[in-house]
Amino acid sequence: MLRCNFCGKTENQVSRMLQGKSGFICSDCVLTSYQMLYEPDFEDFDDDDDGGAPYNYGGEYGGYSIGGIKEGEIIKPAEIKKILDQYIIGQEEAKKILCVSVYNHYKRIFFNDKNSGKEDDVEIQKSNVLLMGPTGVGKTMLVQTMARVLQVPFAIADATTLTQAGYVGEDVENVLLRLIQAANFNIDDAERGIIYIDEIDKISRRSENTSITRDVSGEGVQQALLKIIEGTVSNVPPQGGRKHPHQEFIQINTKNILFICGGSFDGIEKIITSRINSTSLGFGAQVKTAKEKSGDKTLHSIIPEDLVKYGLIPEIVGRLPVIAVLDDLDKEALIQILVKPKNAIIKQYKFLFELDDINFEVEETALSKIAEKTIEKKTGARGLRSIMEKLLSDVMFEVPDDETVKKVTITADCVDGESEPVIERGPEGSALKKSAVAAKKSKRNKSAG
Ligand code: ADP
Repeated sequence: MLRCNFCGKTENQVSRMLQGKSGFICSDCVLTSYQMLYEPDFEDFDDDDDGGAPYNYGGEYGGYSIGGIKEGEIIKPAEIKKILDQYIIGQEEAKKILCVSVYNHYKRIFFNDKNSGKEDDVEIQKSNVLLMGPTGVGKTMLVQTMARVLQVPFAIADATTLTQAGYVGEDVENVLLRLIQAANFNIDDAERGIIYIDEIDKISRRSENTSITRDVSGEGVQQALLKIIEGTVSNVPPQGGRKHPHQEFIQINTKNILFICGGSFDGIEKIITSRINSTSLGFGAQVKTAKEKSGDKTLHSIIPEDLVKYGLIPEIVGRLPVIAVLDDLDKEALIQILVKPKNAIIKQYKFLFELDDINFEVEETALSKIAEKTIEKKTGARGLRSIMEKLLSDVMFEVPDDETVKKVTITADCVDGESEPVIERGPEGSALKKSAVAAKKSKRNKSAG
């Protein structure tokens, strides 16, 4: 991807990228340079008080900048949650826990900055978060949205691709590099960013590993991650990849980076249940019916020891003091996900059809069928999109060229595979639409020519 050699923005963050003999400059930097040269009163187009970082992370929410955190500026947990609610359905408990710990995290940065140097320093420790829950229920989305709300740099890493330094695979430092890139190489900003480490459960210590075989993708990675999670000054190779001796490094302090780890922890319920049951044996023990068990709130009873039993090293568990559990999405939640969030899937399709002047509708019974089918797939909300794609792929191929189509409706039968989406046609297609389609076609032909 092309990157501006002046400010570090990538081509998709700016309107234009100009190429010179040996580099690139973006339209924003051209404008700034012009203003500096020809507008005598001009100081800095970047007035967000963030020490010069030209890029407003996720600027859509406006206002908040981490470069110059001031006390009154930190968004309150309830405000953060309100914004999260617009995008993420349900998961109330996890949202609250995450909002509070993120709020405290940034308060802590502010407080420690302000207090450093004083004698009676109260060092507030950072509280990294562990998100637990099945796949596709919104863990990544929650953290991603959070980072956008706060306008802080954000990077996602998959723990399964990481290996202990020196082995084939990714070094842990590359995770930091991704954050630095997200911050446009502004180290100050990167040092206050958020890193989400997904699939942390997949690097649990394997009990079958004997002491002779090294566990390079399990315990070794946990140890390497531990270092950066705890807070260390890390040397990051700017080009990524392996470290080698004759290389310059970017130094980054991870003390104030918030680490959020996520994982599904398949099978951990057994560990939790056996711990709970061992303390509730005998005549007084509560015997649960199968149905009660499947109501599955077991995960909510998790304690750190269960994670150690599962295979996380105790030091990592100790560094993830906040645990938030995300629940399976039920039918009602899945239906809401289809229609309610700001960027809901159905809204996206509606928009796509509207561009071709076509109405798009999904009947309520169909919504509920789609949700039922998704539950069968056991991939959380991720299954919704693939079902919708399958339903609509033929229609989306055919209708843009058919001027008479006015409306496409998905019915329950359609989801069951018993019929095609219902297509309503106007007598001739409206004059307006005809001209719109004709204009599009001629444009397409021109660009093809
Ligand atoms: P995971 O829990 O595996 O990290 P993701 O956050 O990646 O799951 O979710 C996958 C997709 O499913 C998201 O991009 C989003 O579109 C949708 N999704 C999942 N959970 C929710 C939710 N609670 N509210 C709205 N959309 C959701």
